[in-house]
Amino acid sequence: MRTKQQFGDELRVCRWQLSFALVGVTVLWMLVLPVICDLPWFHSHTALQGAFIVLALVLLAVSYAVVAKILYSRRGLVCPSCGDWMGSQSRMLSTGRCPRCKAEVFHES
Ligand SMILES: [Zn+2]
Repeated sequence: MRTKQQFGDELRVCRWQLSFALVGVTVLWMLVLPVICDLPWFHSHTALQGAFIVLALVLLAVSYAVVAKILYSRRGLVCPSCGDWMGSQSRMLSTGRCPRCKAEVFHES
């Protein structure tokens, strides 16, 4: 099992990668969305345009979550017992335990 130092190092690297990945995902969406909004299909379905924009924003949020989950999983920053990962790494780092199931995520040293 890792030490607190290793967990903290992995978390720092992961957050750095995540910020770049989220910028990348956002830029990708900003490139794709205008293309979709310019399609003849989009202009002929005015009633669906509002729903499409909402759907696009939901998909953007989901893609952020998927990217974050992939990066955290790859670096082993997900609870080995229950799989908790969303926003719990700071508490894991300070306590050494998963905030949800209390499983040990690294050895204090
Ligand atoms: Zn857990």
